[in-house]
Amino acid sequence: MSNIQTVGIIGSGTMGNGIAQACATSGMQVVLVDIAQAAVDKALATVSSSLDRLIKKEKMTVAEKDAALARIKGSTNYEDLKGAQLVIEAATENEALKVKILQQLDGLLGADVIVATNTSSISITKLAAATQRPDRFIGMHFFNPVPMMALVEIIRGLQTSDATHDAVKAMAEALGKTPITVKNAPGFVVNRILVPMINEAFFVLAEGLATAEDIDAGMKLGCNQPIGPLALADMIGLDVCLAVMNVYMAEYNDSKYRPAPLLKEMVAAGWLGRKTKRGVYTY
Ligand code: NAD
Repeated sequence: MSNIQTVGIIGSGTMGNGIAQACATSGMQVVLVDIAQAAVDKALATVSSSLDRLIKKEKMTVAEKDAALARIKGSTNYEDLKGAQLVIEAATENEALKVKILQQLDGLLGADVIVATNTSSISITKLAAATQRPDRFIGMHFFNPVPMMALVEIIRGLQTSDATHDAVKAMAEALGKTPITVKNAPGFVVNRILVPMINEAFFVLAEGLATAEDIDAGMKLGCNQPIGPLALADMIGLDVCLAVMNVYMAEYNDSKYRPAPLLKEMVAAGWLGRKTKRGVYTY
C-alpha cells in the first residue's frame, strides 16, 4: 500500500507529462510544474490526446479520462507543490539546474517529503548531498513512453534510507509499474547494459561482419529484441549514445567502454539518427 496521495512533478516535458498521466490514471492527485505556461499547456494537451487513444482502444471511458485530467493541476508556481508527499524532479538533464531546483525545494517542502529525480545520468549520491534531505532523496528512473513502459529503476544513493526506498517502491507499484532496486552507479542497470550493446553493434558494422539490416535482424530474431540495436541507436540519437559511452569511459576508466570510432564519426558528420533524418538508416 502506498501512502502517497499527492505527487508533485517538476518539468512537464516528455517524461514529466508521462509520469503525470501514470499518476493521475492511478488515482493520485498531481501538481505538474514547469517554468513556462506554454509548456504546461502543451503537457496537458499531450496527456489529453494520450488518454483519447486509450478511449479509442476501449481501455478507458470518457468519464475516467475526465476524472484523471481533473486530478492534474498544471502550474508555473513552485508554491503549489506544498501538500505533496512526493516530488519527482523531471526537468532538463543539467546538473547545475537540478541542484538549483532541489535546493529551492528544500526551502519549500516539509521535512517528511520525499524528493525523487528522474535523471538518466547524474549521480543520485551527488544530488542527494546537495540537498538538506539526503536520506529522503532517491532516483526514480522511468522509461519512455512512461504510460506504456512497465519498468521503474529505483536508485538508492549511498544516503537513501530504507523507509524512503520502501515508500517509493510502494508508490511505483501503485502506478502499476514493476520497480527494480539499483545501487547508484553510472547508467544504473538498464542503460549500463543496453548502451555498450549498441556501441558493440557499431564495431560489428564497422568491421563489415554484416550489413546494418542483418545485424538488426540478427538481434531481433536471435534475442527476441523488439528492435535491432542500430535502429534503436537512431531512435535514441547517436549523440546521446556517444555521450553515455563517454561518461562510462570517464567514470570506470575501462577500455571496454571505448566508443566505437564509427559512432564518433557519424556523430561528427551530424548523422544523429531519426531526429536529423539520417543515422545508420535514412528516414
Ligand atoms: P524535456 O526537455 O522533454 O522536458 C524538460 C522540461 O523541464 C521542459 O519542459 C523544461 O521547460 C522544464 N524545465 C526546465 N527547467 C525547469 C525548472 N527550473 N523548473 C521546472 N521545469 C523546468 O526532457 P525529458 O526528456 O522529459 O527529460 C527530463 C528528465 O528525464 C531528464 O533528467 C532526462 O535525463 C530524464 N529521462 C529522459 C528519458 C527520455 O527518454 N526522454 C528517459 C528517462 C529519463
